[in-house]
Amino acid sequence: MTFPTQAEIIIIGGGIIGCSTAYHLAKEGAKDVIVLEGGQLTNGSTWHAAGLVGQLRSSANITQLLKNSVELYKNLEADTGLATGWKMNGGLRLACNKDRWIEVKRQATTAHSFGMPMELLSAKEAQDLWPLMDVSDVVGAAFMPTDGQANPSDITQSLAKGARMRGVKFHEQTQVTGISVKNGRVVGVETTKGFISCEKVVNCCGQWAKEVGRMAGVNVPLQPVEHQYMITEPLTPNAVPGDLPTLRDPDRLIYFKEEVGGLVMGGYEPNPIAWARKGIPKNFYFSLLNENWDHFEQLMEQALIRVPALETAGVRTLTNGPESFTPDGNFILGEAPEVKNFFVGAGFNAFGIASGGGAGKALAEWVLAGEPPMDLWPVDIRRFSQVHHDDEFVCQRTLEAYGKHYTMSWPHEEHASGRPILTSLLYQTLKDQGACFGSKNGWERPNWFAPEGMEPKDVYSYGRQNWFDVVGGEHRAARESAVVFDQSSFAKFVVKGADAEKALSWVCANDVAKPVGSLIYTQLLNDKGGIECDVTVGRVADDEYYIVSGTGFRTHDFSWLERNLPQGLDVQLIDITEDWTTLSLMGPNARSILSKITDADLSNDAFPFGSLQSITIAGHDVRALRVTFIGELGWELHMPRAAGANVYQAMMAAGSDLGIRNAGYRAIDSLRLEKGYRVWSSDLTPDHTPFEAGLGWAVKLNSSMAFKGREALEKLKPQALKKRLVCFTIKDPAVILMGRESIYRNGQLVGYLSSGGWGYTIEANIGYGYVRNAQGVDVDYLKAGQYELEIACERVACEIHLGPLYDPSMARVKA
Ligand SMILES: Cc1cc2nc3c(=O)[nH]c(=O)nc-3n(C[C@H](O)[C@H](O)[C@H](O)COP(=O)(O)OP(=O)(O)OC[C@H]3O[C@@H](n4cnc5c(N)ncnc54)[C@H](O)[C@@H]3O)c2cc1C
Repeated sequence: MTFPTQAEIIIIGGGIIGCSTAYHLAKEGAKDVIVLEGGQLTNGSTWHAAGLVGQLRSSANITQLLKNSVELYKNLEADTGLATGWKMNGGLRLACNKDRWIEVKRQATTAHSFGMPMELLSAKEAQDLWPLMDVSDVVGAAFMPTDGQANPSDITQSLAKGARMRGVKFHEQTQVTGISVKNGRVVGVETTKGFISCEKVVNCCGQWAKEVGRMAGVNVPLQPVEHQYMITEPLTPNAVPGDLPTLRDPDRLIYFKEEVGGLVMGGYEPNPIAWARKGIPKNFYFSLLNENWDHFEQLMEQALIRVPALETAGVRTLTNGPESFTPDGNFILGEAPEVKNFFVGAGFNAFGIASGGGAGKALAEWVLAGEPPMDLWPVDIRRFSQVHHDDEFVCQRTLEAYGKHYTMSWPHEEHASGRPILTSLLYQTLKDQGACFGSKNGWERPNWFAPEGMEPKDVYSYGRQNWFDVVGGEHRAARESAVVFDQSSFAKFVVKGADAEKALSWVCANDVAKPVGSLIYTQLLNDKGGIECDVTVGRVADDEYYIVSGTGFRTHDFSWLERNLPQGLDVQLIDITEDWTTLSLMGPNARSILSKITDADLSNDAFPFGSLQSITIAGHDVRALRVTFIGELGWELHMPRAAGANVYQAMMAAGSDLGIRNAGYRAIDSLRLEKGYRVWSSDLTPDHTPFEAGLGWAVKLNSSMAFKGREALEKLKPQALKKRLVCFTIKDPAVILMGRESIYRNGQLVGYLSSGGWGYTIEANIGYGYVRNAQGVDVDYLKAGQYELEIACERVACEIHLGPLYDPSMARVKA
C-alpha cells in the first residue's frame, strides 16, 4: 500500500475506540478515512482488557451509548464475518449494607427510567444465578439481563474489518510524531513515514492521547493508572459454566467474570498506583507491567470471602495493564475547544470495551456533523478548564476517582483531592466564618455555613444529611431578610467591538439589541433549536457586552461563542473569570442594605429588574446587575477582584441590623427549585428546545431578526410538543428527591426527573422533569394525568405544577 500524502479524516490509534470510530465513519459514508497506528491494532490497553460489558450509567444518553455498544456487538459478526465473543449472560450487582441497597434500588429506578430491565433479587435468588458465592452478608442484588461480556481484541479486529470493507485504509507501524495547526485549525499530521495533510484528525490514542493532544496544543486531562485482574485455572471439580453472569461486588471493590471454566477477578484498590508520570516508555506495545501481588492482596482477601472456592483454585496469570483514567471517572469525547477539526475519544476509565461501540458511533457522527448527535455533556471534552492543564491536579483527582470507582456514590458527594486550587478573594474570610466548601471546575465554593459549634463538614447519607437544617436557615434568611452569596466562580466574558451587537444578535435567541444598561436572559441555540448555553447578557456600552454563565460551563460556553460568532465582524471575545469577583446580595432587605453603602438610586423606577448600572460602593466601581436566581429582590455585584474584600465588609456591616448572613450553593439550589429556574446540563440541554423547557418567552421569534436556531424553531412552533418540562412536589419529608427518579402518568412511564431537592419555604420535595408523549403534551394532557414518582423502586403519588411554586408577586410585595 503506498503511503498517502493526504486524507480527509485521520484517526490516530488502532485500539477499540479508533477502530469503532473508523467503522462508523465508513458506515456513514465518509470517504478517504485512514487509521494510523504506531504499533499494531489492539496493542494498547485493548488487548488485555477483561471484557465485562455493563451498560448502566447515571446519564440517560451515556447509557444509550452503552446500549448501542451491545446492539453492535450482537450483530457485528453478521456484518463482517468476524465474531466478537459477545455473550449476553447478564450482570449482577450486590448490595451488602443498607445504604448500598438504597443505592442499588435507586440505580434500578434509573435503569427503568431509561427503559432497561433491571431486576431486584434477594440474596438467595442472586446465589441461584451465581452459586459459587457466599451470600451470608448480601442484603440484595440487582440483575441486568442484557449486560454481558465480549472479547476485546476480537471486537476490535471485527470493527477494523468492517471499516476496511467500506474503504478505510489502515497503516500500522506508523507513529504520529507531530500535528500541524494553522489559524486554529488542524491541517495535517507528521508521521514516521511522512507528512499527511488532512481536514480532520481524531485522537483515539488511549493513554497516549494526552501526549498526542499536546502535539496540537490540545489538553486531554487523563492519567494512566495500573489496573490488575487475575485469571484462574478452570475450577474443580466443576468448571465455571460459560453462561455465568458477570458479578460486581462494590462493597468488596471487586468484579468477576467467567473465563474458560475459571474466573477473572479484578477490582479497584483505594490506593491506586499512577503510572508513567514522566511519559509512557517508547514502543510500549503489547506490553504489561510487572505483577504486583502485594498491591493485589487487598482485593484477593475480599474475593476469597465472596468466593471460597478460590482458596483451592490455581492462578493462571495476574495481568497488570495500564489504562487511562480521568479526573471525574468519565471518558473524553468531542471536538477540542483549542483546535478546530481536532477530535478526541480517549480516557475510558476501564470501561472502554463497554463503551467502544457506542462511543465510536457518537464520535463518528460528531466528526461528520461538527456537533454531537445528542447531549453528551457528561463526557464532553469542554467540561474541563484551565485547572485541568495541571498534571499534578489531574493525577491526584484521577487517583481519587479511581479509588471511588466502587465506593458509595453519595448524594452531594465532593472530591477531596487537589484542593484548594482556585479560590475567591474571600476564601479565607468565609472559611473563618464556617464555610463548608465544594469544588466545581477547580473553584472552591461555599456550599453552606456551619454555625458555632458545628464542624463545616458534610456527613453523607441517603437520608437527610447533617447540613439540612442549616441550609434551611440560609434559605429562610434569603426569603425573609438578606443573604450574600460569593459567586466569584461564575464564568464571565466580555464581547466587544463595533459589531458586538450584530454578532451577539446572531447567537442569542433573545433580543440583545437593547439600550445600554439592559440585562437579558437568553439561550444560545444549535441549528436544531436545542439549548447549547443559558446565560445572562448585559449591555455595558454601545460596543460592549458582559456575559455571565455557570462555573462549570466556562470552557463550553466560551468555545460555543468563539465557534459561532459570525466570521468577518469586528468583535472580540475575552474571558475575565478570574479577574472579577461576584457577590450577590439577595433578599427583601437587599435594597435597604445596599442603599446604606451607595448613593445610587435603587428604586424600582431608577433601577428596574433586568437592568445593570455602574455604582460606587466603599470607593469602588461596581457593576450591579438587578437580577435573581432565587426569586427575591437582589443585585449581583460584579467588580474587579481587588475590590471584593472592601465591598463584602461594607455590605456585612450595613446589613448587620437587617439580618444579613452568608449563604451557600445548597441554599441557592433549594431557592431556585421553588422559583422554577432551570439549570443548564440537567433541566436544559441541547436535546431540549426553549418551547419544551418553558422558555419560549425568551425567544425573539416575534421579531424579524435572524438568529441561530430560528429556522428550526419556526418549523417546530406550530407542532405539538412531544415533551415538556414540568414540576412535581411530594409533601412527605421522609421522601428524598435527587433528580433521577422516574415519572409515571396514569401508571405509564413518561420520563424522569432532571433536578430534585427540598423547598424549605413550601415545605415539600420538588422535582423537575420532562413528561414525554409522542402524541403531544399540552396543558390539558398534563392536567388530566395522575402522577407518581418512582424512588428507589417504590412509587409515590405526587402533585404536578405548571408554574413556579414560589409566587413571584411575593418577591415584589416584599420589594
Ligand atoms: C487490566 C484492564 C482490564 C480492563 N477491563 C475492562 C473491562 O472488563 N471492560 C471494559 O469495558 N474495559 C476494560 N478495560 C479498559 C479497556 O481496555 C480500555 O478502556 C480500552 O481498551 C481503551 O481503548 P482505546 O482505543 O481508547 O485505547 P488503546 O487500546 O490503548 O488504543 C490506543 C492506540 O493508540 C496507539 N497510539 C498511541 N500513540 C500513537 C501515536 N503517536 N501514533 C500512532 N498511534 C498511536 C497505541 O499504539 C494504541 O494502539 C480494562 C483495562 C485494563 C488495563
